Amino acid sequence: MSFTEFQAPANHLIDTVLPVRPAMVDRGSAERLKPGMLDGVISSGSAKAMVLSERQALVVEDKLWFGEAAPLFESLQAAGGPLTAIYLGRTLADSSLSAQTPIVLFVPSEPVSPGVAGLPSGASWAGFREVAGRLGAMDTALFVEASAISNWHATHTHCPKCGTPTEIEAAGWVRRCPRDQSEHYPRTDPAIIVTVVGSDGRLLLGGGGPLDAKNYSTLAGFVEPGESLEQAVVREIGEEVGIRVTACQYLGSQSWPFPASLMLGFTATTDDVEARPDGVEVTRARWFSREELQEAVLSGEITISTRLSIARSLIEHWYGGVIEDLQQ
Ligand SMILES: [Zn+2]
Repeated sequence: MSFTEFQAPANHLIDTVLPVRPAMVDRGSAERLKPGMLDGVISSGSAKAMVLSERQALVVEDKLWFGEAAPLFESLQAAGGPLTAIYLGRTLADSSLSAQTPIVLFVPSEPVSPGVAGLPSGASWAGFREVAGRLGAMDTALFVEASAISNWHATHTHCPKCGTPTEIEAAGWVRRCPRDQSEHYPRTDPAIIVTVVGSDGRLLLGGGGPLDAKNYSTLAGFVEPGESLEQAVVREIGEEVGIRVTACQYLGSQSWPFPASLMLGFTATTDDVEARPDGVEVTRARWFSREELQEAVLSGEITISTRLSIARSLIEHWYGGVIEDLQQ
C-alpha cells in the first residue's frame, strides 16, 4: 500500500496514524563503519551506482538510471574530477533492482553531460519535484536518501570548531576533522506540519503570497532549539494564524531533504474560529468543511498540495478518503 492510498476510518476520528512506508534499503549502519568498506563494495562488481549532480539525478523513461559502480567510478573521475562516493545501502525488494544489490551514490565535483563518461546519452538530469510523481517507491526512496546525504556534504565541508576541511569516513556518513579529530554527523532539521481542525469539524488551511493566490495547504514551521514538537505546533499555529491549539496528536512523518527537513505531521484542535494570518508567512487562511474543500478543488477555485507531500496525506486523513483533483 502506498503512502497516499490509505483508507482513513469512516467516522473521521483521529485515532489512527498515517501508514508507515517500509524502508527500501538496508543502510548497513554497522557494516559501513569498517575501513575500506566502500572501496570493497565498488570494486566487488555487484554494486550499482546512481549519480547526483547539482541536486539532480539521471533519469531514463521515468526511472532512475543506475550504472555499474566500478567502471563508472573511474570514468566519472576522469571526466569530472574528484567525486564524492557514498554508500546508500542494499536494496530490500523492488521490481527493477534485484534484492540485496549494493547501491552507491556518486556526486561528481563538476557537472557531467549524458553521453560522456559512461553516462547514457538517452538520460536526462531531473530534480526531485520534477520527476518524483512518476518514480517507483525504490527510486523515490533512493532519490530522497541521496539528496539528504549529498546536501549535508555540500554544506558541511569544514570543521565547525576550527575551520579545517573535514575528511569523509564511514562510507560517506561521517566527516572527521584531521586537526582536532572531531566527528561530524549528517544533520536533519525537524519541522512540524499541521492540520488545524475546529470544534465544528472544519479544517483550516492557509497560504502565502498574493491575496488572490489559489494554493492552500497545511501550516508548517521549524522546531526551535529547546522546544518539544507539541510546543512547536502550538507556537507556530499561534504565530501564523493567531489560533490557540487545545490539543494535538502526532500522525506520521516524511523525510523532505530539500535541503534538510524532516516533516513531522500532526493534527491539532482548536475552539477558536477567527484566523488572523500574520501577513508574512501566511497571508490567507480559510476554513473548509469536507464538502466545501472537495468542491473548491474540483471547480478549480483552489489548489491543494500534491500527493508528493505529507501535507496531502494529512488533509486526506482529516477528509476521510481520497480528495479528487481537477482533471486538467
Ligand atoms: Zn577541527
